[in-house]
Amino acid sequence: MKPEIVVAPRLYEPVMQGLAADFTVHDLWSAADPLAFLATVKDQTRGFASFTSYPVTAAMIAALPKLEIIATMSVGTDHIDLAAARARGIVVTNAPEVLTDCVADIGMALVLNVARKLIVADRFVREGGWLNGNFPLASKVGGATMGIVGLGRIGKAVAKRAEAFGMKIVYFGRRRVADVAYPFYDDLAAMARDSDYLMLTCPGGAATRGLVDAKVIEALGSEGALINIARGSVVDEPAMVQALVAGKLGGAGLDVYADEPRAPEALITLDNVVLLPHLASATHGTRAAMGQLMIDNLKAHFAGETLITPVV
Ligand code: NAP
Repeated sequence: MKPEIVVAPRLYEPVMQGLAADFTVHDLWSAADPLAFLATVKDQTRGFASFTSYPVTAAMIAALPKLEIIATMSVGTDHIDLAAARARGIVVTNAPEVLTDCVADIGMALVLNVARKLIVADRFVREGGWLNGNFPLASKVGGATMGIVGLGRIGKAVAKRAEAFGMKIVYFGRRRVADVAYPFYDDLAAMARDSDYLMLTCPGGAATRGLVDAKVIEALGSEGALINIARGSVVDEPAMVQALVAGKLGGAGLDVYADEPRAPEALITLDNVVLLPHLASATHGTRAAMGQLMIDNLKAHFAGETLITPVV
């Protein structure tokens, strides 16, 4: 008998197939009324295969009395009500490391695109602007300072890339990171003041909600740019939008937003902003590896083996 699990959202197709090989899968993602659907599978569902775009709420956890494990194919767990899971002794696993390089690539790509205005320049050629004159000059990345918020796996991978482009690295966090020589700031606004690019690579969730507030945005200033590959919740989005529209923040490169899949309307027409649809880990190889790690965690749990990447 295969263990029974629910899945939401609909995952990358090879991952759906991988899950079906080892589990009886109930498609929560297609249910119009999730709680009503869960009521129909509550007596047999022991696992939840999850990803960032579909919150696992306390009400869903309560609706599944036999639930033992929530496994997400993301590294972030801010879409899961961890307190509700913990209170029931439900284990949670995530998918760290396997996506680090792809996410860091997008962090650096956003820096380059904001600095050199590549997307605007592409449009300039396509729309015939070049026939009437040269594209305006842009900003040099080499020599600029990148302030990293949360120097973990992804933050360090972005730092490595930025160093290769000749950038200076500084970082902010709750504590110093032992194995790096980059200058550390314990004051985020002070680091923003000294940075040309503020790179967000910390987790989302309650502890970092609104960490980048109006004061930090003001400190980054009209010559600075905010790059967010972390979570929309880390930024006071209305304050960021207001500063961008008023020219008080120089630019932004965003992969994540407060209310996905909606990007703030006011940013749509701004040429100093690059908007991506939360795609940092979205390559075939990486999504397959993320899904496999989730599946391996589920299999380990149901085999009574040690979990590979439990969330502590
Ligand atoms: P990680 O290795 O755990 O790194 C997170 C870093 O943030 C750590 O250095 C951590 O340091 C720091 N941090 C934690 N809480 C903080 C706080 N309150 N203030 C400042 N710094 C804090 O995780 P990772 O693998 O690099 O992933 C980081 C995040 O990237 C994920 O949680 C996720 O939200 C985001 N992400 C986004 C995408 C995307 O598609 N855009 C894809 C993957 C990941 P301490 O714990 O020592 O404080």
